[in-house]
Amino acid sequence: MKTASVNKNKNTKLFLHLKKWLEKAVLDYGMIEKGDRILIGISGGADSLALLDLLDSPMLYIPEFSFIAVNIDMGFDQAYKTYEILEGYFKENNYTYVMKKTDIGNLAHSDINKKNPCFLCSRLRRKRIFEIADAEGCNKIAFAHHRDDIIETLLINMFYGREISTMIPNQSIFGGKLHIIRPLTYLQEELIKKYSKERRFPVLKNNCPTSKISKRIYIKSLLDKLEKDNKEIRDNIFKSMSHVKPEYLLPHSRKK
Ligand code: SF4
Repeated sequence: MKTASVNKNKNTKLFLHLKKWLEKAVLDYGMIEKGDRILIGISGGADSLALLDLLDSPMLYIPEFSFIAVNIDMGFDQAYKTYEILEGYFKENNYTYVMKKTDIGNLAHSDINKKNPCFLCSRLRRKRIFEIADAEGCNKIAFAHHRDDIIETLLINMFYGREISTMIPNQSIFGGKLHIIRPLTYLQEELIKKYSKERRFPVLKNNCPTSKISKRIYIKSLLDKLEKDNKEIRDNIFKSMSHVKPEYLLPHSRKK
């Protein structure tokens, strides 16, 4: 199958803007050290393709590292057309990659697990990613979560999980053996999508039936509505996460 024709010109204002903020986030949170081997999680969406492209660019301040692109195919597209498109893109760009065909998508939506497909889906997908990181000698895993994902997760965790927490930019797991890093932490979803269009990345269609009705979609539309009255709302929520005043939150109570 032919892959879409990607625009090879990286030297645009938007590219320079995104790379500047990616490098700033990486430095601010100490995400990358010299000699790191990074597994980059690629779903095939605009965000992950942009992350791969941005990390595969000459860096000004980030030390030398190597990476491998990894895709876990969820099995939603039984004809594997999306799989072929992504593999074609990896080959065309000479990326070192690992792709795994799975039935995680169907398993997560099976009759015994209809209530919360996302929970099982993310768990199984992560497990596969950790296994590949181990097999490929990677000490870091880069995910394409961006500023808007971080804001939405904060609200999801408050609205449905009764806690104040979100995805963090640099997370140590398995006693420090692995780190999950999020180099797009400072980048706005809107600009990432714009960049993806500018570069004509072969963005894959998301065939997951839950993707249109998830809590994340609900929160996103809620924020869009609020933004009509307050343009700064996303920025304010994001910045508020670095200005927490624990003394003005409720102290632990023995009553639950
Ligand atoms: S939206 Fe679909 S692909 Fe994404 S985590 Fe939920 S079940 Fe998995």
